[in-house]
Amino acid sequence: MLQRILPAGKDFIKEIVTAENTLVDATCGNGHDTGFLAGLVPDGHVYSFDVQAEAIDSAREKYNGDNITFVHDGHENISQYVKAPVRAGIFNLGYLPGGDKSITTAYDTTIAAVTGLFELLSPGGRIVIVVYHGHDSGKVERDALLETLSAWPQDKAQVLRYQYINQKNNAPFLLVIEKLK
Ligand code: SAM
Repeated sequence: MLQRILPAGKDFIKEIVTAENTLVDATCGNGHDTGFLAGLVPDGHVYSFDVQAEAIDSAREKYNGDNITFVHDGHENISQYVKAPVRAGIFNLGYLPGGDKSITTAYDTTIAAVTGLFELLSPGGRIVIVVYHGHDSGKVERDALLETLSAWPQDKAQVLRYQYINQKNNAPFLLVIEKLK
């Protein structure tokens, strides 16, 4: 079977990470990705960002560990909290499932965050972005990301789009950025 979107996103990270690496969850939400990342780096560290205190609090309850730092701030401010080298990062765009649907990621801060995180990546490092484009601002964010990332020079990064093209209801897809050596 072809790999589905969310497990594929995790595998794109898993295959390049070693136990002592630094990783970033740019959209903590309920903390599931943070917990996954923390399990990959028992001797490393995960920085997990969210603008919603409720999200950070509930994630911290589930996934507290010495190797996780929760940051209650926007991912566009990543460089204020995280130093290079970062091996990988993940963005799960959109709104928190079961939460306030008016608080979503936005194209301008998402692009600032992806660009900022890319600067911190080690060569061969990756950023996985799960793009949800069923809601209006998600469509704007999708288009802005595709326009911006399509223009990145190919000697600087490889940018992959991983998407099933015959799924209904605006099924999410992945953008995977790999920094070239
Ligand atoms: N990965 C999460 C999980 O495992 O539950 C789901 C993330 S949810 C789709 C998107 C999250 O991004 C929301 O919790 C929202 O508060 C957060 N968010 C929105 N704008 C943000 C920003 N500028 N910086 C960091 N987080 C942001």
